[in-house]
Amino acid sequence: MSNLNYRLRPDFINRSEERSLELREVVNRPAIDVAPAVRALTPYEAVTSQSAIEARPDGETTFKLDWNEATIAPSPRVNEAIQAYLSGNRDLNWYPQLGSKDLLGALEGYTGLSSEHLMASNGSDDALQLICNTFLSEGDEVVAPVPTYNHFVVFAQSRGAKITKVQGDSPFDKNLDGIYEAMSPNTRILYLVSPNNPTGKVLDPEDVEGLCRAYPRTLVILDEAYFEFAQVTGIDLVREYPNLIVTRTFSKAFGLAGLRVGYLAGDPDLVEGLSRIYNPKSVNALGQVGAIAALNDLDYLDAFLAEVEESKEILRDFFASKNAEAYITPANFVVVRVPQITDTLGQLEQRGVYVRDRSSYPGLEGCLRMSVGTVEQTECLLERLEEVF
Ligand SMILES: *Cc1c(COP(=O)(O)O)cnc(C)c1O
Repeated sequence: MSNLNYRLRPDFINRSEERSLELREVVNRPAIDVAPAVRALTPYEAVTSQSAIEARPDGETTFKLDWNEATIAPSPRVNEAIQAYLSGNRDLNWYPQLGSKDLLGALEGYTGLSSEHLMASNGSDDALQLICNTFLSEGDEVVAPVPTYNHFVVFAQSRGAKITKVQGDSPFDKNLDGIYEAMSPNTRILYLVSPNNPTGKVLDPEDVEGLCRAYPRTLVILDEAYFEFAQVTGIDLVREYPNLIVTRTFSKAFGLAGLRVGYLAGDPDLVEGLSRIYNPKSVNALGQVGAIAALNDLDYLDAFLAEVEESKEILRDFFASKNAEAYITPANFVVVRVPQITDTLGQLEQRGVYVRDRSSYPGLEGCLRMSVGTVEQTECLLERLEEVF
């Protein structure tokens, strides 16, 4: 069963196995139980089309539109930089640059903030988890408007926090009143996503500022994973508000989801707090090199953003012509309500189109979410959508 066994003395193996069996019988549950806050959670089941797509015939055009990833490869400079790194004497046997210092330097230019406000992370999920681990204790109150990005909720729950989910009449409204009603001076964290996933709802920086000001003892997280698509940001507010953290990622607009690079921006005191448990080698060497190269080719980013905008107009016209209830969001995805969700998903998959079922989310009954790609991809996609809608 385990490769380790051959190193252990056989009599020791037997003894330890017997002992563990005994233990299991006594307590009638696994010998090592998870932490109390984790006990309440169910394993996260990631639903991805990746293996289904890989199983399809070679050469077939498929559409992976289920995870909001960029639909095209990143800037060619990313590959060049990674290859140059690998072919130089930059051996992979060394740990990566600590704290991603060079990447933070590049991010200074991109965000307009000095590096004391910035921290790089292993995807923005890692930043969200670091924030929860640093600032949340058992019983802390967390407020999150829903529907929202569920990973954050899991990270907060794993700390034993109590989550108050704020649900408005329509998930496509920003429902500021509802947020204010749910807040209290004791709220430890308020989690905002703008543009929101999966609704695309964008918060004005003034809305975020108002909340930061009204609740100075609450840490406000503003998750801007889709910032590039909407071009609306609250990141400048971190200079003024010591209770705001903005998280961002290279996984969406920059097309680097496979490299796992994200970052956060906040007051230097917050960054100092986070640095107490931050792992300075959390971003791997190739991720650092790739993200810097992507930041050095913003023309490529802009070209992709323009493609996505144009594609959204094509999709807007298409769904309007079908009288379908479609929300063309400011991010790189659209949400479409259909009468028979399971049917529609099946028909799309038959045609190599993989989208995300979001019908179980509050207010999103019958809804699917679909990433938006380039104009050429969208035109090809429409031929298949025509057969389904
Ligand atoms: C995709 C996504 C993330 C996670 O991005 P990574 O940087 O790949 O971890 C975080 N927040 C939201 C809202 C997302 O949609």
